[in-house]
Formats: sequence, C-alpha cells, structure tokens
Amino acid sequence: MAQKICPRDKDYGRWYTDIVQMAELADYSPVRGCMVIRPNGYSIWEKIQQELDKRLKATGHKNLYFPLFVPESFLKKEAEHVEGFAPECAVVTHAGGKQLEEPLVIRPTSETVIWHMYKQWIHSWRDLPLLYNQWANVVRWEMRTRLFLRTTEFLWQEGHTAHANEEEARKEALLVHQLYKKLIEEVMAIPVVCGKKTQQEKFPGAVDTYTLEGLMQEGKALQMGTSHYLGQTFSKAFEVTFQNKEGELEFPYATSWGVTTRLIGALIMTHSDDQGLIIPPKLAETPLVIVPIWRGEEEKKAIKEFVTNLPFDGIAFHFDDREEEKPGYKFNEWELKGIPLRLEVGPRDLAKGEVVLARRDTGEKCATSIATLRQTVEKMLDDIQTNLFRRAQERVKKNSHFVDTYTAFQEKLEEGGFLYAHWCGNGSCEQKISEETKASIRVLPFDAHEEAGACIYCKEPSSRRAVFARAY
Ligand SMILES: [Zn+2]
Repeated sequence: MAQKICPRDKDYGRWYTDIVQMAELADYSPVRGCMVIRPNGYSIWEKIQQELDKRLKATGHKNLYFPLFVPESFLKKEAEHVEGFAPECAVVTHAGGKQLEEPLVIRPTSETVIWHMYKQWIHSWRDLPLLYNQWANVVRWEMRTRLFLRTTEFLWQEGHTAHANEEEARKEALLVHQLYKKLIEEVMAIPVVCGKKTQQEKFPGAVDTYTLEGLMQEGKALQMGTSHYLGQTFSKAFEVTFQNKEGELEFPYATSWGVTTRLIGALIMTHSDDQGLIIPPKLAETPLVIVPIWRGEEEKKAIKEFVTNLPFDGIAFHFDDREEEKPGYKFNEWELKGIPLRLEVGPRDLAKGEVVLARRDTGEKCATSIATLRQTVEKMLDDIQTNLFRRAQERVKKNSHFVDTYTAFQEKLEEGGFLYAHWCGNGSCEQKISEETKASIRVLPFDAHEEAGACIYCKEPSSRRAVFARAY
C-alpha cells in the first residue's frame, strides 16, 4: 500500500473516491457512469439485503421478479411519471438485427410494468393486499455520476403493493419507512431525519413521498430511502379495478418504496476517517480479524492451535495467516478495509494468557484475558456499534441549526448542515430559495413542533420548520 488516502480536509471528494477504490469496494467500468462492485463492496450490499429482506418477509412481503425491459408505451400512460423519468431513460430500438416495432425502455423503476400485470392478478377484494418486492437493477441515464452515490445503473429493491383502501395503503408506506429507519439506524448506525417530501420534491406520480435524510461528514444531505403513497394514480392509468365487499368496482390504492446501493456511499461518508473505511459490526461480513505475530514453526503451531480452539461460535472472523506480509502491513490493510475489531496474538501474549484487541472506531488497543475473551469481544463489538451511531448523532446535532432570517440562512448554509427554517408551504418560495442558494427542502420532519413563525423568503406565517440543506 504505497498509495495513501487523500485526507478529508484536503479534498473530501478525492478522499471518498480513494476509499471506494483503495478499500476495493468498487471500480469504474468501461461504460461511463456505471460501476463494478467488487467483493468488499458487494458483501456490504448482501448484508443490507439480508437484513432488510428478513424484515420485509416478517411483515408479510414476498419477493418476485419482473423483466428488465418495459414497453415504451407503458411509461407514457401516466403523465407525471413519464415527465419525471423520460429524460433519463435508456431505450432499446434494435435487437436481433432488426429495428423493434415498439422501443423498449430499460426500467428506471417498475411501476408501469407491475401495474400492467396487477390488472391480470387483481379482480376481487380477496386478491388484496398484494405485498410484493423485487431485488433488481435499474438504469437512469445520469450526466454527473459518482461511485455508489449516483451511477447510471444501480442495484436496489423496489416494493409495489396494492390495497383495498387508502388507510391501509398509507399505513403500508409508513410501515416500510419504519423498517428502513431500523435498518439504517440500528444496523448501519446512521442517524436519519424522518418525514415527508414537499410536493416539488416528491416521486413523479406519488401523492405523498416519505423520506429518510442523512447528513454526511461534509455537511451535505443524502436521501437514504423513500416510500411513496401512490393513491390510485397507477391503478387508474392501467385501468385496474376490483370488486369490493359491497360488489362495487373500485380502483385499488398503491405504494412503492426503495433503497439502493447508494446506502454504501452513505456508510462511507458517515463513519470513515483518513485511515479508511469503518464498517459497523452489525454490517460487517467479518467483524473481527485475527493477526498473528509469530516467528518459527513452534510459535506458528501454538497460535494456529489457539485460533482453532477459540470459542467464537456465531462471531464471524477472518484469520489473516498470510506468511508473505508483516503484521504492520496487515494492520494497515484491515484498518483501510474497515474491519471493526482486530485481535493481535503472539507467543508472549499467549504465555501471559492474554491477547491484544484494537478497535477500529477509536484506535484504542488493550490487552485482554483469554479466559473471558468471548464476552469481551461481544461487548466490544456492541460498544463499537453504539459508539459509531452516537458519534454520528452528535455530529448531526452539532451541524443542525435553527435560522429565522434569509440572511442568517444564507450565511449558515456556507458551513453546511441541516437548516431548520420556517417556510410558508408555497412552492414558489421553495423554488426561489433553491435557485438562489442551491439548497432544497430535504424533509418536512414528522416530529416538527407547532411553532408560530414567518417564512424566511416571503415572511408569510408558518407553523412548522422544514429542513433545508444542500444535497448530493
Ligand atoms: Zn414563503
């Protein structure tokens, strides 16, 4: 590892790319804007998948799979939806050596093809609800891309549900929003502000969009996931009806929701430091790495035996027994790759009945007794998980500001962070603020207090604060 990571205070963008590439999370592909996800990055995605999938299944959702191609005419059936997505669609016009009769869009999202099929599957109230999810890739032709954060092709899950009434559908959108919050906060240790998007920022075709917004180290916001209440927009566009219990025909109510590989970008920009990546223990494929410090065959034999007999059932670890690398090199490498806890063991430690544990989050090293090693390791992994979340929470708190005038807003904005400011609810104020400052309303928080104030732009009365920020 001759190359060093660019420090954050020198160039944050460069630091981010260095981590992605040097920790071998992803690489640029020969197709501009696309990425190759390498095993270290893919294992994080798999862990996110497992954790979310089990929560979705426990709440009654089932996985299925739809094709990559969507007939172009489908997209045009819902006006707002096509307007939102058309500019970034990739379209296949030729295949099998011929021009296609109807061009095929590579899915930017699957509402249209899914609702086309729901027409064949939904007839009666007995067919509802449909609680379906798919793990897939989608393509959105982005002009300015960045590994994990914004790529032309990305991986995600998209849930699409159909319900007999509005109340159930709204409940579903909020339930999934809560599952996302648990995944992001409890597993990924990233704090989020939860709430609704404004009408301008919502998903094209949605009635309401619920969001989870994170604040990255650089002071910019990142949208971590969204869940949409779609009302009857898509059931009407695709003429899907069902017979209700009273025997009348009705349009079902829909939701859709998704999180993407972007979460890996959020992970990097929440926890990592100038030494490299830091993975929270609950998200790490192997939360523990064991590095032996040995010389000669006898020492090797003793340490290998010690490792074989470790009482670590249920704790995944990696034993780095490479002969060709020195311990110091291995320490650096595992720090760069973000393994939360390192165990160092040598013959002198063993003689004393001890090993050394080194925490990735704080850099602290301590000798610990082998007799109680399992408990110590478990406790330390818990501590690291908690500490990473607490540390991120403190940073978000420190960088959240209440501002009451447009001047104060513009000044504070230069420091970055979440700005809590009054807004009258008018789309034109929102748009002007965004044009003049490049900051948008990220979220209307669920937990905003009722409070009399004045819109920072037009000074009309406002009863709650919105959260503004510049975003990725
Ligand atoms: Zn206003």
